[in-house]
Amino acid sequence: VAEVSRYAITGALLRGRVGTWRVDVDSGVVDRIVPDDAGTVGDRPDEVVDLRGQLLLPGLVDLHVHLDKAYQLRDLERLGEGGGGIEGALRATSRLRDELTTDRIVANARRVLDVMATGGTVAARVHVEIGPSSPPDAVPVHVALAAATPDLRLEFVAFPQHGTTTDPGVVRRLAEAMAQGCTVVGGCPYADPDPLAHLDTVIGLAVDTGSPLDLHLDLSDDVDDLLLDQVVPRVEKAGLQGRVVVGHVTALTAAPPDRVREIAAAVAAAGITVVSIPTTDLFLSGRGSPQAPTRGVTRIGELADAGVPVALASNNYENAFTPVTMPSLTHAAWLACLTNHRASESQQLHLLDAITTTPRGAMAGPVPGLTVGGPIGAAAFGVADAVDVVRIAARPSWRFGPAGPRRLGPAS
Ligand SMILES: [Zn+2]
Repeated sequence: VAEVSRYAITGALLRGRVGTWRVDVDSGVVDRIVPDDAGTVGDRPDEVVDLRGQLLLPGLVDLHVHLDKAYQLRDLERLGEGGGGIEGALRATSRLRDELTTDRIVANARRVLDVMATGGTVAARVHVEIGPSSPPDAVPVHVALAAATPDLRLEFVAFPQHGTTTDPGVVRRLAEAMAQGCTVVGGCPYADPDPLAHLDTVIGLAVDTGSPLDLHLDLSDDVDDLLLDQVVPRVEKAGLQGRVVVGHVTALTAAPPDRVREIAAAVAAAGITVVSIPTTDLFLSGRGSPQAPTRGVTRIGELADAGVPVALASNNYENAFTPVTMPSLTHAAWLACLTNHRASESQQLHLLDAITTTPRGAMAGPVPGLTVGGPIGAAAFGVADAVDVVRIAARPSWRFGPAGPRRLGPAS
């Protein structure tokens, strides 16, 4: 794609505005958003894209993704690994980790970035595994990938996939990862034999480094595993309100309605964002119950009713945790709609927020979008109503980034 410095998007429908609109972009920044007939001011743009009434949205934001364990199904089959739920997936992925070269990991990561870009994603929070067998250059490799992908803004989580209490060296390596370019401290209490001690360790590191915290939390069908109500007072005590994201929280589906409402209110008061991952959570959950097994996707409606910010993310691409690719985050919204019985237009628009505005607000750094004076990061969809992006799991027809417009295919 040749870089263009000045370009204009015309004929755009914008959410919440009447008529069609023109967006002028100059040197990667949204210069102005005006009614379509306002015309050109100053120099002529290098390129004009007429959307002819397609919907233009701030680009999608994926709040939870792993680049370092993508596209592993063939290798796992070769090793005779696969299935087995969360424990099996952790074991299989560790086994494979020991034999994968950095080149192979990078090639698979590039595939994910390409899928994300063509799916309309403009920014993502990426968990970088820091564990006993992760390579010492894991963070620099991710930072280099981000530098080579200017149309996608990536931020990195130092993620202890196997916990912290059984590996005394991992805390030092997490601190190193923060110094090497991670901006968010991660955690994974369910993978640690002492989940509460692990929680205290990663919260301490977040406080010490002045960083936000992002936990893989409560990925279980068993309500007794629920730690979310232990996380809330610790977040408040540490003063991390508004800076914490928790992913999965599938155990909440097993809690009785009163307890769900109580926890949701406390989570909202602590300013914690919940990120649900419909593909992984559907695939990993409900394996132990012979009848009417839970399907794992957390209680999006109840959380939203209590005022908890809810985001949706892709997490994994074709590995032991998630055996499919997510072609666009719009598929996460579509799946969440089915699994959470979200039938009305307002409920479905809430799911559109969950892949656009909500994850934007939860990212640690600034995110490209459609704000005048901010970096451009937008995607167009061939629909007349915003709710149709969710109803048909629309694929974007264009994406707009700092390097210029990129046509992605025919309008969905
Ligand atoms: Zn994850």
